Amino acid sequence: MLCKDYDILAFFSNSNIAPEQEYKVRLESFYLLCGQRSLEYHVDEYDNAGWLDCVKGLEDEPERGARCAKCIYYRLKRSYDFAKKNNIMYITSTLTVAPYKDSPMIFEVADSLSGEYGIEYVRYNFKKNDGFKKTMEQAKKSNLYLQKYCGCIFSSNKGR
Ligand code: SF4
Repeated sequence: MLCKDYDILAFFSNSNIAPEQEYKVRLESFYLLCGQRSLEYHVDEYDNAGWLDCVKGLEDEPERGARCAKCIYYRLKRSYDFAKKNNIMYITSTLTVAPYKDSPMIFEVADSLSGEYGIEYVRYNFKKNDGFKKTMEQAKKSNLYLQKYCGCIFSSNKGR
């Protein structure tokens, strides 16, 4: 969808994901997707300890709560940092495709970062118009891994 209007660079920044094996499986799918779609990409450093430090004290928050707001900030900020260093003018995020993700919360975080960095956030709400269902269909066709939980250890069975 985005490739029609933009030159895309896919940025993978997911220090939230744990355990590391789960991170590796999702990263493999990212490589597979970028290969299939001939996308330029960059993989950010994996720093789960740094991410855990960022959400310290919010471990027991429910999904869509304060821990998620920090998590989204942590990862989007790294995206803005990368964009700034590489003269990228627009950012958007696939985070909005997930039915349990709060798109207005994502937009609010992105707006504050756009003000700070002078980079425009393109406000796609990818879950609209059956976006999640279509994503699942595409993922199955492309043999991509389908995650069973959001990503952090607190959203997995092991974290409960
Ligand atoms: S539930 Fe998802 S969005 Fe929320 S903190 Fe965990 S990984 Fe981040």
